[in-house]
Amino acid sequence: MSDALARLYAATRAFALATPEVNAFRGLPQDPPRLNKPHTPVPALPHLTAHFPTKMASERGKVMAHAVIDAADQIDWLLTYTEDLVGADFLARYGWFELLGPTGHFMSDDVVAFVGYWGQGLRYPWHWHEAEEIYVVVDGACLFEAEGREARAASPGDTSHHVPWQAHALRTQDQPVLALAIQMGHGLNDVPEILPERGPRAHS
Ligand code: ZN
Repeated sequence: MSDALARLYAATRAFALATPEVNAFRGLPQDPPRLNKPHTPVPALPHLTAHFPTKMASERGKVMAHAVIDAADQIDWLLTYTEDLVGADFLARYGWFELLGPTGHFMSDDVVAFVGYWGQGLRYPWHWHEAEEIYVVVDGACLFEAEGREARAASPGDTSHHVPWQAHALRTQDQPVLALAIQMGHGLNDVPEILPERGPRAHS
């Protein structure tokens, strides 16, 4: 039976399969077991439903954005960070959830898929974690920053790959962004460590 979360998982998997860099990084399982999780809202939900999908999205991106919105009132949304680390405006206009993973809506012990939303003009500060990761823009736009390379503007389908402990950051400008992040390796589910001392470097 197809429900909103099952449709979201299928749409996410289809989007990942259709994005060559993501598909090469790590495939997502076809029929993972479900975990019953409570719905937890975040303040950003009305922004998310108001902004997506945009005209920028691919057909698969639109399907995934619609699926996120359709399942939004069942998702266990997370904020993770404190106001001290990221600021009140960030917490009001951002949210993410573990779609697949050890504690996701769908379960896997060796691959995690997160979906995150950031409103316009936000800075996800420099942070790092042990798990290897790839980000892909589903809809909207952002700037991907990673230690050792130039910041790059990303639109739907563009990716950013992070090796273990490679510091990275994400900024939005005049567009919000809906992004998928897939992680594998050690440290799945570890909370990323924010690196406040790297903040100024990102502005140069
Ligand atoms: Zn990361």
